[in-house]
Amino acid sequence: MEEVKVLIIGSGPAGYTAAIYTSRANLQPVLYEGIEPGGQLTTTTDVENFPGYPDGIDGNMLMADLRRQAERFGADIRTGVVSNVDLSSRPFHVIVDGEKEIVAESLIIATGATAKYLGLPSETKFRGQGVSACATCDGFFYRKKDVAVVGGGDTACEEATYLASLCRKVYMIVRKPALRASKAMQQRVFATPNIEVIFEHNTAEVLGDESGVTGALLRGNDGSERRIEISGFFLAIGHHPNTELFADQLELDAEGYIRVEGASSKTSVEGVFAAGDVKDPHYRQAITAAGSGCVAALDCERFLLR
Ligand SMILES: Cc1cc2nc3c(=O)[nH]c(=O)nc-3n(C[C@H](O)[C@H](O)[C@H](O)COP(=O)(O)OP(=O)(O)OC[C@H]3O[C@@H](n4cnc5c(N)ncnc54)[C@H](O)[C@@H]3O)c2cc1C
Repeated sequence: MEEVKVLIIGSGPAGYTAAIYTSRANLQPVLYEGIEPGGQLTTTTDVENFPGYPDGIDGNMLMADLRRQAERFGADIRTGVVSNVDLSSRPFHVIVDGEKEIVAESLIIATGATAKYLGLPSETKFRGQGVSACATCDGFFYRKKDVAVVGGGDTACEEATYLASLCRKVYMIVRKPALRASKAMQQRVFATPNIEVIFEHNTAEVLGDESGVTGALLRGNDGSERRIEISGFFLAIGHHPNTELFADQLELDAEGYIRVEGASSKTSVEGVFAAGDVKDPHYRQAITAAGSGCVAALDCERFLLR
């Protein structure tokens, strides 16, 4: 059985940043990458809003840089998926890939969140070529173009109004006869002249060609069909925090995000810290994830020094 001071689960911006800080603090962190080494940003090309890259940077390159930076200070970055954790007593018992056992004095959880998609093959085909689950990240690429947002909750309304400030026209595709969002958000949507809400419709197909998304085929609840011409297709139907491993062991919110104490990274179990999208239903950006990776590393360092 291996003993480690700091075990980091996840290799997105939060995990790698936590590894940079804890390795520089000489805590010899071990980090397991999981099934998506580098995290969500490896599924995108241009990242234009991460500070320090005035010309933008490819998502894979950014993550490779963060990894190299952590390795430079001695972080032990390993291939493997954490398959079980026991947080009932310290040191914590962790199983990797169903077999390797580790005991960790402290744990930094940075397992991220996964955007929900509709599950259409055409949607998968055009992911990154017009299909996106992040208006803040990708909206800028569709300036003065027509786009659609799928969803009827607060996030969908927020994304639609944000996109309306950049794009020529925004269609909101809503399954139900009404929006689920708060009254205030609904009012904002209805008061925005370049948003058209299409109620009681589902997306049957995302349409496109070699240039990317060109439209969407919608099906009404009454069986009717409607085609819209768009360049961007934004999903806003929620995210799934990757917290199954910690259910019943850590305090989670109603949606499954890890609850932390105030602005810290402290979870309901002493010695366990959370960083990045796994504890953040609101911002979900690479820079906020990296920032919270730093917070988790500093909280962890102070905890171990005690
Ligand atoms: C297509 C796309 C484009 C984006 N574009 C931008 C952008 O331009 N700018 C921006 O700021 N943000 C962007 N984002 C959002 C940004 O990628 C996320 O906010 C950020 O990656 C979250 O970082 P994280 O470290 O919390 O987790 P993630 O990046 O989600 O990484 C989670 C990590 O946890 C690992 N993991 C999960 N479970 C386990 C386990 N059991 N064992 C071990 N490891 C595990 C995964 O393998 C992964 O490495 C984009 C997101 C997507 C999907």
